[in-house]
Amino acid sequence: MTTDYYELLEVDRNASTDEIKKAYRAAARRYHPDANPDDESAEARFKEVATAYEVLSDPDKRSHYDRFGADGPSMGDAFGFNGGLGDIFGAFFGGGGGFSGGRAGPQPGPDLETSVTIDFEAAVFGTTEPVTVRTAVPCETCEASGTAEGSHAETCQQCGGAGQVRQVRQSILGQMVTAAPCPACRGAGEVIPNPCADCQGEGRRVTEKTYTVDIPAGVDTGSTLRLTGMGAAGVRGGGLGNLFVHVRVRAHDRFERHGTDLLHHLHLPVTQAALGAVLAFETLDGEEELVVPRGTQTGKVFRLRGRGVPHVRGRGRGDLLVEVTVDTPTDLSVEVEEALRRIAEERGDVVAPPEKGFLSRIKSAFS
Ligand code: ZN
Repeated sequence: MTTDYYELLEVDRNASTDEIKKAYRAAARRYHPDANPDDESAEARFKEVATAYEVLSDPDKRSHYDRFGADGPSMGDAFGFNGGLGDIFGAFFGGGGGFSGGRAGPQPGPDLETSVTIDFEAAVFGTTEPVTVRTAVPCETCEASGTAEGSHAETCQQCGGAGQVRQVRQSILGQMVTAAPCPACRGAGEVIPNPCADCQGEGRRVTEKTYTVDIPAGVDTGSTLRLTGMGAAGVRGGGLGNLFVHVRVRAHDRFERHGTDLLHHLHLPVTQAALGAVLAFETLDGEEELVVPRGTQTGKVFRLRGRGVPHVRGRGRGDLLVEVTVDTPTDLSVEVEEALRRIAEERGDVVAPPEKGFLSRIKSAFS
C-alpha cells in the first residue's frame, strides 16, 4: 500500500488545486464502494484517495505533508478520516448537485399529533389541558448514545462515515449519480457494535407522556397548536420533533359562535316587547342589564360590545349579539283572552270569534 498521496491521485507534485480536485473526482468515482460491490480493496483505496484529497486540497496540510510526509508529526484531527469525508463530498457534489454533502448529523424525531376537546367557555377565556401522547424519549441508560456502557459507536465501513451512498448508473443521458441513505447505518454514518440493552441501540424508548398544554383564549374548533420540541426524540441524540394539538370546542346551549362574535337568540313575551323591560342578562362575563325599549320588534339585534371572543392573535374581543324574537302567547287563560279581546276592540282589530265553550268557561271562572 502506497502512502504517497500524489501517486494515489495520479497527479504531479506541482499539480494545481483544480487538477487535484479533478483527479480526486475521477478516483472517487472509480473506487466508490457502490461502483465496486464486494471488492474490499476498492473500498480501502476509496478511503485512501479521500484522505489524500483531504490533505492535498488544503494548502496548510499539503505543505505539512510535503515536508514531513503522511507519517510526520500529527496535525491532530485534520489527518483523521472520520468526519472529513462529508466535507469532501460537499465540496464536490453539494450545492444543488443532488448530493447533500454527507451526513447531516442526528435527525430530530418525528412530529406527533393529538386532539383535545374543550368546553366553550374554556375556548373563550383560555385554559390548560393535559394531553397524553405515545412518544419516544431519550434513553436514560445510555444517555441517548445507543451504546452499551464502556463501548462506542464506530464509523460505518460501508459509507465511510458519510451516511450516504452514491449510486452510479448509466443512462442515455450519460452517467447519473444519485445519493441515498447508507443502508448499513441508515444514514447515521456510524454503527453500534455493542448496543444498549434498554433501547436496542436506538438511544430512545417509547413511552406515554402527558403534557400540560396552554390553550390560548380565542381558539376554535379547527385551531391547531404547535408545541415546539414536544414531539418524539430522534434516534441516538437526535432532537425532539414538534407536537401538534388539534382543538375541538363543545357547543354552548345559549351562545353560537360566529368568528369572534357570539350570538344569542332572545325570546321576549309580547308584553315586554310592547312595554319595554330591563332584563338581567347572563353573559359569559356574568350578569348584565339588558334594556329592552318599548316597541321592540322581532329581528332587533342588541350588541354588547367586547362581550364576545378574544382575538386569538391580537388584542380586543368580539361582541355579543342578542337577536330578539317576540313570542306570540299561546294557551291563553280566560282572563288574558278577555283582556286581549278588549284590546282588539279598542284598536279596531278584527279578530276570530271565541272558540266554542269560551262563554261557559267565563261563567265558571266568575261563578
Ligand atoms: Zn439506551
